[in-house]
Amino acid sequence: MRRLIVSLAVPYLQASYFANGLAFMTMSTGNQMKMSSSTPKHTLYDLPVSNNGARCRIMLYKKGIKSEEVAIVSPAERGGLKSDEYLALNPQGKMPLLTVDGGMNIPESDTICRYLMSTYSDRGPSFLPDDPKSNLIARIHDMYITTIQGCLYKASPPFGIYGTRQDAFKELQKQLQIIDDLISDDKDGNYLCGSEVSLADATLFPTMIFVKEMFPKFGPCATELPTKLSKWYDDVKANDADFSKVHEEVNGGIKQWTTNGRWDKIWLAGVRDEEPATIFDKIISGEIPATIVKDEPKLLAFKDINPAAPAHVLVIPKNRNGLSSLRKSTPEHSEILGQLMVAAGEIARDTSLGFGDGARIVVNDGEDGGQEVPHLHVHVLGGRQMYWPPG
Ligand code: 5GP
Repeated sequence: MRRLIVSLAVPYLQASYFANGLAFMTMSTGNQMKMSSSTPKHTLYDLPVSNNGARCRIMLYKKGIKSEEVAIVSPAERGGLKSDEYLALNPQGKMPLLTVDGGMNIPESDTICRYLMSTYSDRGPSFLPDDPKSNLIARIHDMYITTIQGCLYKASPPFGIYGTRQDAFKELQKQLQIIDDLISDDKDGNYLCGSEVSLADATLFPTMIFVKEMFPKFGPCATELPTKLSKWYDDVKANDADFSKVHEEVNGGIKQWTTNGRWDKIWLAGVRDEEPATIFDKIISGEIPATIVKDEPKLLAFKDINPAAPAHVLVIPKNRNGLSSLRKSTPEHSEILGQLMVAAGEIARDTSLGFGDGARIVVNDGEDGGQEVPHLHVHVLGGRQMYWPPG
Protein backbone atom coordinates (compact mmCIF):
# COMPACT_ATOMS: atom_id res chain seq x y z
CA MET A 1 0.00 0.00 0.00
CA ARG A 2 1.38 3.40 -0.93
CA ARG A 3 1.51 6.06 1.72
CA LEU A 4 0.44 9.54 0.79
CA ILE A 5 -0.03 12.84 2.51
CA VAL A 6 -3.67 13.71 2.08
CA SER A 7 -3.95 16.57 4.52
CA LEU A 8 -2.63 18.91 1.84
CA ALA A 9 -2.63 19.46 -1.85
CA VAL A 10 0.15 21.93 -1.72
CA PRO A 11 2.45 21.49 -4.65
CA TYR A 12 5.01 23.99 -3.45
CA LEU A 13 4.68 23.46 0.25
CA GLN A 14 4.86 19.73 0.27
CA ALA A 15 8.59 19.80 0.65
CA SER A 16 8.39 21.51 4.00
CA TYR A 17 5.52 19.32 5.15
CA PHE A 18 7.62 16.29 4.39
CA ALA A 19 10.57 17.86 6.10
CA ASN A 20 8.46 18.62 9.14
CA GLY A 21 7.44 15.00 9.29
CA LEU A 22 3.67 15.46 9.41
CA ALA A 23 1.54 12.36 9.68
CA PHE A 24 1.04 10.31 6.55
CA MET A 25 -2.17 8.54 5.66
CA THR A 26 -2.67 5.71 3.29
CA MET A 27 -4.59 6.02 0.09
CA SER A 28 -4.60 4.26 -3.21
CA THR A 29 -5.41 5.51 -6.68
CA GLY A 30 -6.36 3.79 -9.90
CA ASN A 31 -2.96 4.18 -11.47
CA GLN A 32 -0.98 3.13 -8.45
CA MET A 33 0.69 -0.18 -8.49
CA LYS A 34 0.08 -2.62 -5.69
CA MET A 35 3.43 -4.07 -4.69
CA SER A 36 3.53 -7.00 -7.02
CA SER A 37 5.85 -9.41 -8.73
CA SER A 38 6.64 -7.27 -11.80
CA THR A 39 9.13 -4.47 -11.45
CA PRO A 40 8.02 -1.24 -13.08
CA LYS A 41 10.08 0.16 -15.91
CA HIS A 42 9.49 3.66 -14.63
CA THR A 43 8.53 5.22 -11.36
CA LEU A 44 6.78 8.57 -11.18
CA TYR A 45 7.28 10.15 -7.77
CA ASP A 46 4.15 12.21 -7.31
CA LEU A 47 0.98 12.56 -5.25
CA PRO A 48 -2.49 12.40 -6.76
CA VAL A 49 -3.36 15.77 -5.21
CA SER A 50 -0.37 17.59 -6.70
CA ASN A 51 -1.03 19.91 -9.63
CA ASN A 52 2.56 19.90 -10.86
CA GLY A 53 2.57 16.20 -11.61
CA ALA A 54 -1.02 16.29 -12.82
CA ARG A 55 0.03 17.04 -16.39
CA CYS A 56 2.14 13.84 -16.36
CA ARG A 57 -0.79 11.89 -14.94
CA ILE A 58 -3.08 13.22 -17.68
CA MET A 59 -0.59 11.91 -20.20
CA LEU A 60 -0.33 8.51 -18.52
CA TYR A 61 -4.10 8.18 -18.26
CA LYS A 62 -4.77 9.27 -21.85
CA LYS A 63 -2.06 7.03 -23.27
CA GLY A 64 -3.38 4.11 -21.21
CA ILE A 65 0.00 3.53 -19.60
CA LYS A 66 -0.54 1.10 -16.76
CA SER A 67 1.05 1.03 -13.33
CA GLU A 68 3.10 -1.98 -14.40
CA GLU A 69 4.90 0.34 -16.81
CA VAL A 70 4.93 3.59 -14.83
CA ALA A 71 4.17 3.22 -11.15
CA ILE A 72 3.04 6.35 -9.32
CA VAL A 73 4.74 6.38 -5.96
CA SER A 74 4.70 8.88 -3.12
CA PRO A 75 8.07 10.57 -2.41
CA ALA A 76 7.42 9.43 1.17
CA GLU A 77 8.54 6.01 -0.03
CA ARG A 78 12.01 7.54 -0.35
CA GLY A 79 11.82 9.31 2.98
CA GLY A 80 10.19 12.50 1.67
CA LEU A 81 11.28 15.26 -0.68
CA LYS A 82 14.10 16.49 1.54
CA SER A 83 15.53 13.10 2.49
CA ASP A 84 19.05 12.23 1.38
CA GLU A 85 17.67 9.29 -0.56
CA TYR A 86 15.23 11.46 -2.54
CA LEU A 87 17.71 14.32 -3.01
CA ALA A 88 20.12 11.81 -4.54
CA LEU A 89 17.42 11.19 -7.17
CA ASN A 90 16.40 14.85 -7.58
CA PRO A 91 18.69 17.45 -6.01
CA GLN A 92 15.88 20.04 -6.40
CA GLY A 93 13.88 18.12 -3.78
CA LYS A 94 10.69 18.50 -5.81
CA MET A 95 8.12 16.33 -7.45
CA PRO A 96 7.20 15.01 -9.93
CA LEU A 97 10.24 12.94 -10.74
CA LEU A 98 10.39 10.09 -13.22
CA THR A 99 13.03 7.47 -12.61
CA VAL A 100 13.89 5.17 -15.45
CA ASP A 101 15.15 1.71 -14.57
CA GLY A 102 18.77 1.53 -15.60
CA GLY A 103 18.53 5.08 -16.94
CA MET A 104 18.47 8.62 -15.75
CA ASN A 105 16.21 10.41 -13.31
CA ILE A 106 13.99 12.97 -15.02
CA PRO A 107 12.54 15.83 -12.96
CA GLU A 108 10.26 18.71 -14.08
CA SER A 109 6.82 17.95 -15.46
CA ASP A 110 7.45 19.40 -18.91
CA THR A 111 10.58 17.28 -19.35
CA ILE A 112 8.80 14.19 -18.06
CA CYS A 113 5.88 14.77 -20.43
CA ARG A 114 8.16 15.19 -23.42
CA TYR A 115 9.95 11.96 -22.44
CA LEU A 116 6.61 10.14 -22.16
CA MET A 117 5.51 11.60 -25.52
CA SER A 118 8.54 10.16 -27.30
CA THR A 119 8.91 6.92 -25.32
CA TYR A 120 5.22 6.07 -25.72
CA SER A 121 4.73 7.71 -29.12
CA ASP A 122 2.92 4.61 -30.34
CA ARG A 123 0.36 4.75 -27.54
CA GLY A 124 -2.75 6.95 -27.52
CA PRO A 125 -2.69 10.59 -28.59
CA SER A 126 0.66 12.15 -29.52
CA PHE A 127 -0.09 15.38 -27.56
CA LEU A 128 1.74 17.09 -30.43
CA PRO A 129 -0.84 18.43 -32.85
CA ASP A 130 0.40 20.17 -35.95
CA ASP A 131 -0.05 23.53 -34.26
CA PRO A 132 2.76 25.54 -32.65
CA LYS A 133 0.22 27.06 -30.27
CA SER A 134 0.40 23.90 -28.18
CA ASN A 135 4.07 24.43 -27.34
CA LEU A 136 3.57 28.17 -27.01
CA ILE A 137 0.77 27.84 -24.44
CA ALA A 138 2.79 25.29 -22.46
CA ARG A 139 5.77 27.64 -22.57
CA ILE A 140 3.78 30.69 -21.48
CA HIS A 141 2.37 28.61 -18.63
CA ASP A 142 5.76 27.48 -17.38
CA MET A 143 7.54 30.81 -17.88
CA TYR A 144 4.95 33.23 -16.56
CA ILE A 145 2.22 31.36 -14.68
CA THR A 146 4.02 28.58 -12.81
CA THR A 147 6.34 31.12 -11.25
CA ILE A 148 3.52 33.12 -9.65
CA GLN A 149 0.68 30.66 -9.20
CA GLY A 150 1.45 30.48 -5.47
CA CYS A 151 -0.69 33.64 -5.22
CA LEU A 152 -3.70 31.33 -5.60
CA TYR A 153 -3.05 29.34 -2.45
CA LYS A 154 0.04 30.44 -0.50
CA ALA A 155 -0.60 32.37 2.70
CA SER A 156 2.18 34.91 2.31
CA PRO A 157 4.10 36.76 -0.40
CA PRO A 158 6.33 36.95 -2.26
CA PHE A 159 4.56 35.27 -5.17
CA GLY A 160 7.39 34.92 -7.67
CA ILE A 161 8.71 38.42 -8.18
CA TYR A 162 5.52 40.03 -6.82
CA GLY A 163 5.34 41.36 -3.28
CA THR A 164 1.55 41.50 -3.13
CA ARG A 165 -1.25 39.15 -4.08
CA GLN A 166 -2.97 41.91 -6.04
CA ASP A 167 0.07 42.45 -8.26
CA ALA A 168 0.54 38.71 -8.80
CA PHE A 169 -3.16 38.31 -9.64
CA LYS A 170 -2.94 41.15 -12.16
CA GLU A 171 -0.05 39.41 -13.88
CA LEU A 172 -1.82 36.04 -13.75
CA GLN A 173 -4.90 37.54 -15.37
CA LYS A 174 -2.76 39.15 -18.05
CA GLN A 175 -1.13 35.81 -18.89
CA LEU A 176 -4.48 34.01 -18.97
CA GLN A 177 -5.80 36.65 -21.34
CA ILE A 178 -2.74 36.21 -23.60
CA ILE A 179 -3.48 32.48 -23.74
CA ASP A 180 -7.19 33.15 -24.29
CA ASP A 181 -6.31 35.34 -27.28
CA LEU A 182 -4.41 32.40 -28.80
CA ILE A 183 -7.51 30.20 -28.83
CA SER A 184 -9.30 30.25 -32.19
CA ASP A 185 -12.82 31.64 -32.06
CA ASP A 186 -14.05 28.97 -34.44
CA LYS A 187 -12.08 25.94 -33.26
CA ASP A 188 -13.89 22.64 -33.47
CA GLY A 189 -13.41 20.22 -30.58
CA ASN A 190 -12.93 20.47 -26.85
CA TYR A 191 -9.19 21.04 -26.70
CA LEU A 192 -7.09 24.19 -26.85
CA CYS A 193 -5.89 23.46 -30.37
CA GLY A 194 -9.20 21.98 -31.57
CA SER A 195 -10.17 18.33 -31.72
CA GLU A 196 -6.75 16.92 -30.76
CA VAL A 197 -5.53 16.90 -27.17
CA SER A 198 -2.14 18.56 -26.77
CA LEU A 199 0.63 19.27 -24.30
CA ALA A 200 -1.01 22.68 -23.79
CA ASP A 201 -4.19 21.05 -22.43
CA ALA A 202 -2.24 18.80 -20.07
CA THR A 203 -0.09 21.71 -18.88
CA LEU A 204 -2.76 24.33 -18.34
CA PHE A 205 -5.63 22.21 -17.00
CA PRO A 206 -4.23 21.45 -13.50
CA THR A 207 -3.45 25.14 -12.93
CA MET A 208 -6.93 26.06 -14.08
CA ILE A 209 -8.39 23.82 -11.39
CA PHE A 210 -6.72 26.12 -8.84
CA VAL A 211 -7.69 29.25 -10.73
CA LYS A 212 -11.35 28.20 -10.95
CA GLU A 213 -11.53 27.33 -7.28
CA MET A 214 -9.56 30.23 -5.92
CA PHE A 215 -10.29 33.27 -8.05
CA PRO A 216 -13.70 33.68 -6.38
CA LYS A 217 -12.14 33.43 -2.90
CA PHE A 218 -9.90 36.41 -3.61
CA GLY A 219 -12.79 38.33 -5.16
CA PRO A 220 -11.54 41.89 -4.61
CA CYS A 221 -8.35 41.33 -6.61
CA ALA A 222 -9.61 38.88 -9.23
CA THR A 223 -11.95 39.51 -12.10
CA GLU A 224 -13.75 37.08 -14.38
CA LEU A 225 -11.81 34.43 -16.26
CA PRO A 226 -11.43 35.00 -20.00
CA THR A 227 -14.42 33.44 -21.77
CA LYS A 228 -12.71 31.06 -24.22
CA LEU A 229 -10.47 29.63 -21.50
CA SER A 230 -13.40 29.26 -19.18
CA LYS A 231 -15.39 27.38 -21.81
CA TRP A 232 -12.42 25.16 -22.69
CA TYR A 233 -11.99 24.24 -19.01
CA ASP A 234 -15.67 23.40 -18.57
CA ASP A 235 -15.82 21.41 -21.83
CA VAL A 236 -12.72 19.32 -21.24
CA LYS A 237 -13.70 18.61 -17.63
CA ALA A 238 -17.19 17.51 -18.66
CA ASN A 239 -16.30 15.53 -21.79
CA ASP A 240 -12.91 13.95 -21.18
CA ALA A 241 -12.89 11.25 -18.49
CA ASP A 242 -9.12 11.50 -17.92
CA PHE A 243 -9.23 15.25 -17.37
CA SER A 244 -12.25 14.75 -15.15
CA LYS A 245 -10.29 12.21 -13.10
CA VAL A 246 -7.38 14.61 -12.61
CA HIS A 247 -9.86 17.31 -11.66
CA GLU A 248 -11.21 15.04 -8.93
CA GLU A 249 -7.71 14.24 -7.70
CA VAL A 250 -6.48 17.83 -7.46
CA ASN A 251 -9.79 19.20 -6.24
CA GLY A 252 -9.80 16.61 -3.46
CA GLY A 253 -6.72 18.25 -2.03
CA ILE A 254 -8.18 21.73 -2.38
CA LYS A 255 -11.37 20.65 -0.57
CA GLN A 256 -9.22 19.26 2.23
CA TRP A 257 -7.61 22.70 2.59
CA THR A 258 -11.03 24.30 2.88
CA THR A 259 -12.10 21.75 5.50
CA ASN A 260 -8.92 22.50 7.45
CA GLY A 261 -9.79 26.23 7.53
CA ARG A 262 -6.85 27.20 5.36
CA TRP A 263 -8.50 30.38 4.06
CA ASP A 264 -9.83 31.73 7.34
CA LYS A 265 -6.73 33.73 8.23
CA ILE A 266 -5.60 34.64 4.74
CA TRP A 267 -5.94 38.25 3.71
CA LEU A 268 -8.63 38.74 1.03
CA ALA A 269 -9.71 35.07 1.14
CA GLY A 270 -11.11 34.88 4.68
CA VAL A 271 -10.08 38.27 6.06
CA ARG A 272 -11.51 41.46 4.58
CA ASP A 273 -11.31 45.17 5.45
CA GLU A 274 -14.70 46.09 6.84
CA GLU A 275 -13.76 49.40 8.52
CA PRO A 276 -15.48 52.55 7.22
CA ALA A 277 -13.68 54.91 4.86
CA THR A 278 -11.81 57.87 6.47
CA ILE A 279 -10.92 61.46 5.64
CA PHE A 280 -7.65 60.16 4.18
CA ASP A 281 -9.58 58.47 1.35
CA LYS A 282 -10.89 61.91 0.41
CA ILE A 283 -7.34 63.30 0.42
CA ILE A 284 -6.23 60.40 -1.80
CA SER A 285 -9.07 61.02 -4.25
CA GLY A 286 -8.42 64.78 -4.25
CA GLU A 287 -11.87 65.55 -2.85
CA ILE A 288 -10.21 67.32 0.11
CA PRO A 289 -7.08 69.40 -0.56
CA ALA A 290 -3.77 68.70 1.15
CA THR A 291 -0.18 69.79 0.66
CA ILE A 292 1.20 66.69 -1.06
CA VAL A 293 4.93 66.18 -0.63
CA LYS A 294 5.24 62.72 -2.16
CA ASP A 295 2.95 60.87 -4.55
CA GLU A 296 3.94 57.32 -5.48
CA PRO A 297 1.85 54.52 -7.01
CA LYS A 298 1.18 52.91 -3.65
CA LEU A 299 1.63 55.72 -1.12
CA LEU A 300 0.94 59.38 -0.50
CA ALA A 301 2.67 61.85 1.87
CA PHE A 302 1.16 65.18 2.83
CA LYS A 303 1.59 67.87 5.48
CA ASP A 304 -0.41 67.38 8.67
CA ILE A 305 -3.22 69.96 8.91
CA ASN A 306 -2.51 70.44 12.61
CA PRO A 307 1.27 70.19 12.87
CA ALA A 308 2.76 69.08 16.18
CA ALA A 309 6.24 70.27 15.13
CA PRO A 310 7.70 72.77 12.62
CA ALA A 311 7.85 69.92 10.08
CA HIS A 312 5.06 67.34 10.25
CA VAL A 313 4.25 65.03 7.36
CA LEU A 314 1.94 61.99 7.24
CA VAL A 315 2.79 59.03 5.01
CA ILE A 316 -0.11 56.71 4.14
CA PRO A 317 -0.82 53.71 1.91
CA LYS A 318 -3.16 54.71 -0.95
CA ASN A 319 -4.97 51.41 -0.61
CA ARG A 320 -5.66 50.76 3.06
CA ASN A 321 -6.14 47.04 2.37
CA GLY A 322 -6.98 46.20 5.96
CA LEU A 323 -4.33 48.47 7.48
CA SER A 324 -6.73 50.49 9.58
CA SER A 325 -4.03 50.17 12.22
CA LEU A 326 -0.60 48.62 12.39
CA ARG A 327 -1.96 45.89 14.61
CA LYS A 328 -3.96 44.63 11.62
CA SER A 329 -0.83 44.03 9.57
CA THR A 330 -0.03 40.58 8.14
CA PRO A 331 2.90 39.27 6.09
CA GLU A 332 0.85 40.31 3.04
CA HIS A 333 1.51 43.92 4.02
CA SER A 334 5.29 43.62 4.15
CA GLU A 335 5.83 45.36 0.82
CA ILE A 336 3.76 48.47 1.58
CA LEU A 337 5.10 48.69 5.15
CA GLY A 338 8.61 48.68 3.75
CA GLN A 339 7.71 51.37 1.21
CA LEU A 340 6.17 53.57 3.93
CA MET A 341 9.35 53.34 6.00
CA VAL A 342 11.60 54.15 3.06
CA ALA A 343 9.40 57.13 2.16
CA ALA A 344 9.41 58.34 5.79
CA GLY A 345 13.20 58.22 5.79
CA GLU A 346 13.40 60.20 2.54
CA ILE A 347 11.03 62.84 3.87
CA ALA A 348 12.94 63.11 7.16
CA ARG A 349 16.13 64.05 5.33
CA ASP A 350 14.42 66.68 3.16
CA THR A 351 15.56 69.99 4.63
CA SER A 352 13.30 71.89 2.24
CA LEU A 353 10.38 70.54 4.28
CA GLY A 354 11.89 72.01 7.47
CA PHE A 355 13.61 68.88 8.77
CA GLY A 356 16.97 69.29 10.48
CA ASP A 357 19.37 66.66 11.78
CA GLY A 358 16.92 63.89 12.59
CA ALA A 359 13.22 63.36 13.12
CA ARG A 360 10.69 61.55 15.27
CA ILE A 361 8.98 58.91 13.14
CA VAL A 362 5.87 57.59 14.86
CA VAL A 363 2.88 55.33 14.30
CA ASN A 364 0.04 55.88 16.76
CA ASP A 365 -1.89 52.66 17.07
CA GLY A 366 -5.38 52.23 18.48
CA GLU A 367 -7.08 53.88 21.42
CA ASP A 368 -4.14 53.70 23.84
CA GLY A 369 -1.75 54.89 21.18
CA GLY A 370 -3.81 58.02 20.52
CA GLN A 371 -4.74 57.06 16.96
CA GLU A 372 -7.62 59.13 15.60
CA VAL A 373 -7.81 58.20 11.91
CA PRO A 374 -8.25 54.46 11.26
CA HIS A 375 -6.06 54.40 8.13
CA LEU A 376 -2.43 53.55 8.85
CA HIS A 377 -0.25 56.66 8.77
CA VAL A 378 3.35 57.29 9.67
CA HIS A 379 3.99 60.65 11.34
CA VAL A 380 7.31 62.24 10.39
CA LEU A 381 7.97 65.09 12.85
CA GLY A 382 11.00 67.37 12.96
CA GLY A 383 12.44 70.86 12.85
CA ARG A 384 12.86 70.92 16.66
CA GLN A 385 14.45 68.86 19.43
CA MET A 386 12.29 65.87 20.44
CA TYR A 387 12.22 64.54 23.98
CA TRP A 388 11.78 61.14 25.53
CA PRO A 389 9.57 59.65 26.81
CA PRO A 390 6.83 60.95 24.53
CA GLY A 391 3.63 62.13 26.22
P1 5GP B 1 -3.50 60.11 14.60
O1 5GP B 1 -3.88 60.80 15.85
O2 5GP B 1 -4.59 59.27 14.06
O3 5GP B 1 -2.20 59.36 14.74
O4 5GP B 1 -3.15 61.23 13.54
C1 5GP B 1 -4.06 61.73 12.63
C2 5GP B 1 -3.42 62.95 12.05
O5 5GP B 1 -4.13 63.31 10.90
C3 5GP B 1 -3.49 64.11 13.00
O6 5GP B 1 -2.17 64.61 13.26
C4 5GP B 1 -4.34 65.15 12.27
O7 5GP B 1 -3.90 66.48 12.47
C5 5GP B 1 -4.20 64.71 10.84
N1 5GP B 1 -5.36 65.07 10.03
C6 5GP B 1 -6.66 64.79 10.34
N2 5GP B 1 -7.46 65.26 9.36
C7 5GP B 1 -6.66 65.81 8.41
C8 5GP B 1 -6.91 66.43 7.16
O8 5GP B 1 -8.05 66.59 6.72
N3 5GP B 1 -5.84 66.85 6.45
C9 5GP B 1 -4.57 66.68 6.91
N4 5GP B 1 -3.57 67.13 6.14
N5 5GP B 1 -4.28 66.09 8.08
C10 5GP B 1 -5.33 65.67 8.84
